[in-house]
Order: sequence, then C-alpha cells, then structure tokens
Amino acid sequence: MLSTMQDVPLTVTRILVHGALVHGRSQVTTWTGDAEPHRRSFREIGVRAIQLANALRDELGVARDERVATLMWNNAEHVEAYLAIPSMGSVLHTLNLRLPTEQLTFIVNHAADRVILVNGSLLPLLAPLLPALEPVEHIVVVGPGDRSLLDGCRPAVHDYEELLAGRPTTYDWPELDERDAAAMCYTSGTTGDPKGVLFSHRSIYLHSMQVNMTESMGLTDRDTTLVVVPMFHVNAWGLPHATFMTGINMLMPDRFLQPAPLAEMIESERPTHAAAVPTIWQGLLAELAAKPRDISSMATVTIGGSACPPSLMKAYEEHGVRLCHAWGMTETSPLGTMAHPPAGLTPEQEWPYRISQGRFPASVEARLVGPAGEIMPWDGESAGELEVRGPWIANSYFGGAGAEPLRPEDKFSPDGWLRTGDVGVITHDGYLTLTDRAKDVIKSGGEWISSVDLENQLMAHPGVAEAAVVAVPDERWGERPLATVVLKEGATVSYEELREFLAGRIARWQLPERWAIIPAVPKTSVGKFDKKVIREQYRLEQID
Ligand code: ADP
Repeated sequence: MLSTMQDVPLTVTRILVHGALVHGRSQVTTWTGDAEPHRRSFREIGVRAIQLANALRDELGVARDERVATLMWNNAEHVEAYLAIPSMGSVLHTLNLRLPTEQLTFIVNHAADRVILVNGSLLPLLAPLLPALEPVEHIVVVGPGDRSLLDGCRPAVHDYEELLAGRPTTYDWPELDERDAAAMCYTSGTTGDPKGVLFSHRSIYLHSMQVNMTESMGLTDRDTTLVVVPMFHVNAWGLPHATFMTGINMLMPDRFLQPAPLAEMIESERPTHAAAVPTIWQGLLAELAAKPRDISSMATVTIGGSACPPSLMKAYEEHGVRLCHAWGMTETSPLGTMAHPPAGLTPEQEWPYRISQGRFPASVEARLVGPAGEIMPWDGESAGELEVRGPWIANSYFGGAGAEPLRPEDKFSPDGWLRTGDVGVITHDGYLTLTDRAKDVIKSGGEWISSVDLENQLMAHPGVAEAAVVAVPDERWGERPLATVVLKEGATVSYEELREFLAGRIARWQLPERWAIIPAVPKTSVGKFDKKVIREQYRLEQID
C-alpha cells in the first residue's frame, strides 16, 4: 500500500530558493588579499545565481543535462555556479586545478564540457591547455586576471560580471527528477584514467541534511565555516549546499591557502568551524609556532581525506580547537563517518573514539569483507575491506556522453555495495578504524603492518613534522616498511633514536629498518601523502 504523503522531489533548486529567501541575511565572505574581504549575502547570491542561469541558457545555449565546468577557487561566484547550474537542470562539473595537465585535458574532453567558468587568476593554467580541449566553446572569466592570455584562442571569451549584468532576476526553474545528475567530480585517478562520479539532486539534498545533523557537522546560522577544502574536492565535502539549507555563513579563502593568510583570516573573521585535510592543519600549526595568533574561535574543525594523526589533534587542543575526524571518498559524496564519541565519557575515555574514523550515520550501511569474501564481525578486531551502500553512495561511474555507466568489479560488488579499497575494523557500536588502504598495507612475512599506525607513532615524536611509511620489496619478507620522515625546523634526530622511540610502542618485528629523512612528503592534488611517488623514488634511488 502506498503512503498518503506528498512526493516532492529533493532538488538543489529547493536549497537555492530556500537559502536565498529564509537565510537571505547569511553571508559568504571571500578573502581577497586586500584590507577588507568581499562580502555577499545569500539573498544577493540567490539573485545572481538566477541571473547566471539566464545567461547560461540565453547567451551560451546551455541545455538540460549538459555539463558546465568550473575551474575556480573557493569564492562567492563559485557558490553561485554551485546553485545555478544544477537548478537549471544542467550538471556542475568542478575541475581539480591541481591535477596534472594531461588528466585535466582528459577530464574536460571526457565530460564534453562546452563551457568553462574560470577564475582570472587561473588563466595561466587554462590558456595553454585550450588547443587540446576540443569540446570547449565558451570561456567565462570570473574576477581579476590577465585576459590577454586568451587573445586569439578558439573559444568565445566572456566576462562573468558583464554576462550577468541586467539579466532577469526570475527563472522558471524546470521540474526535475530528483534522480537526475546535478554535479560531477572525477576521482584523482591514482590508477588508470580518472573516473567521473555523478551526484544526483536527491543525493546532494540528503547528504546536505546529514552534514547539518548534530552527529555530523551540526552548524547553524550563528556559525561561520571556513571552507578550506577546495570546492573541486568532492563538492567541498557538501558544505556549499548544506550551508544554504540552514544559513551557515561561509568564509572562503579563494587562492590564499598558505598558512599565513589562513591564520590571518581566522584571527580577523573568527570562524566557528573549518574543514580541511590534515596537511593544511599541519602547515598552520608550524605557522602558529612561528607567529602565535588566536584561533580559538574555531571551536571545531572537520578533518579527513586522510588519517588524522592523534598528535595533531592533541596539538590543536592547546589552541582551544577540537579536531573532529571524518572519513569519506568521492564515491560517498563524501560523508561516510564522523568521530563524535558516545555520551557519558570523560575526556580521557573519549580519545579512542576521537582518533577512530568515526561512526556511520543511519543512511550509510557498512560491512567488512575478509580475504575469502566472508563478512567479518563488528568486534573491533576482525579486519576486512570496507564496503558501503546508501542514498549518497555511488553505484557506477560516468561512462562518457551517450555511453553506458561503468561498473568495474573491483569498485562495485555484484550485490550493489561500493568497495572502498580501505581496510579496517568496526566496533560493535559502529565505530570504524581504518588500518590502511588496501594498496598501502605492508605485507611482511604473511603478516600485515599498518602504514598509518607507524606514521601516527612517528608523528608523535617531538622532532618529527611529518612521516609517510610505504611498503618496499624485500627478498626475505616480501615487503618491509620504509619510513620517510620530515623533521621539524631546527630538529636533529637520528634514525636510531626514532627506532628507539617506536620500539616501546609497536611490536619489534614491525620496526622499520629502512629510513630516509626527506625535505617534504610529496602530496597529491588534494593534499594527501602521495605514496606512489615515494615508492617510485625508492625504486629509482634505493633511499635507505
Ligand atoms: P582519492 O581516492 O583520489 O584520494 P578521495 O578524496 O575520494 O580521492 O579519497 C578517498 C580515500 O581517502 C578513502 O578511500 C581513504 O583511503 C582516504 N581517507 C579519507 N578520509 C580518511 C580518514 N579520515 N582516514 C583515513 N583515510 C581516509
């Protein structure tokens, strides 16, 4: 029997209309590097999003289902694109500006992007690629930059503000199916070509509600969130849509992502929350040590994208900032878990929960699959590959315009679960602890060594700034750990001392015998440790 409830599609259009109307006074503040940042209200953003939709349809001929790309930093105009493009029934395609140029070219061509919105400051990146970007017909330049870089290029060039000026401030939004694609993001393609994930209106809507629940980020219109996580990294973890739902103010760093301007904007704008990967918070910590600043307004920080070392969490406690660990991936929109401890514990008892990857929300179902395909129990000890399913979890990848979706076997189980490639354990009350990525785990003489565990222990040493551990081939054991370590400025620590430090904390057979002090850990396009590069370097130079 069907219910007697109304069947209202869950769409980004609803988020846009609601945010602009009900939370019209909330603000997006964009850092400009000038004395005063740029401020724009949700109401203004709503109106400009409508004007953008009119311009895209009437001037550039953007159609339903067409992908519209953005090559932009985090700023108010990018929020306008986030709301306008899905609401008009097209697909917002955020381009990762840190990808190698061959991958960017592949992605634009694969998605058949005809229109690219680009920040003027990124023209030096885009202009040289244009001859290889075959489908591109229109470039819309947003904000200051050297437009002469586009002189003589094939696509038509437009100025964002000129395109919006005088456009109608109403739009007859189309009736959308909530299962239609609203946004798209390519994974960074650590193996093979990047793969496109298409988020639906429904998945974005439900994910935004989850982001706003107290068991996740739980912010309100009294909060300001500093969105450091790039808007091209899984939709800035859902924040631009979630904030419009509940009126959370946004502080946007634009291109000022270095530790010094970040410290400055936190001190002067006093955000109550922030979101970024661990590398950003490592960098800020060093900046604060060199030049102390008050960052205590930022009561909580959502940290994820790679494992957060417990030492980093403890260091931020001293600044009055609570880091809250979260796990997710492009294919999970990305919110998968968040590490809020259960009620009724002392701060000391909370630590094991806080350093775990966290608890699953009701909408994310999880299971662990053992080496022989068996389902492992949730006992906090039995390890397996994590598989998940739910309304904001991918079921396939974009196959290209007009092509069937891709469902590679190593990513999707026949019975409809996403294979995450992450290995870990789950406690009886649903807290996930990841021990590794399947491809990073060190298989030494039939036993597994967790690279993440070794890294966390090493980063607890007072002389160590960062540590990345990778598996390297070993004749006797198959694989052994290679520990690469970045020392804090001015620190002198020997390998023996580090081994000694580890000796009391991990089993002896796990102690690395190969070491390298390196100037910096190589990072991926979204700021994670790039272990592929470290392994490759080892192969070429045998750096032990
Ligand atoms: P990529 O696969 O290109 O790195 P994603 O951003 O989708 O792009 O990465 C998802 C992966 O990042 C996860 O599968 C997991 O391995 C890792 N990850 C994300 N959050 C965490 C976390 N809190 N702890 C450990 N690993 C994490």
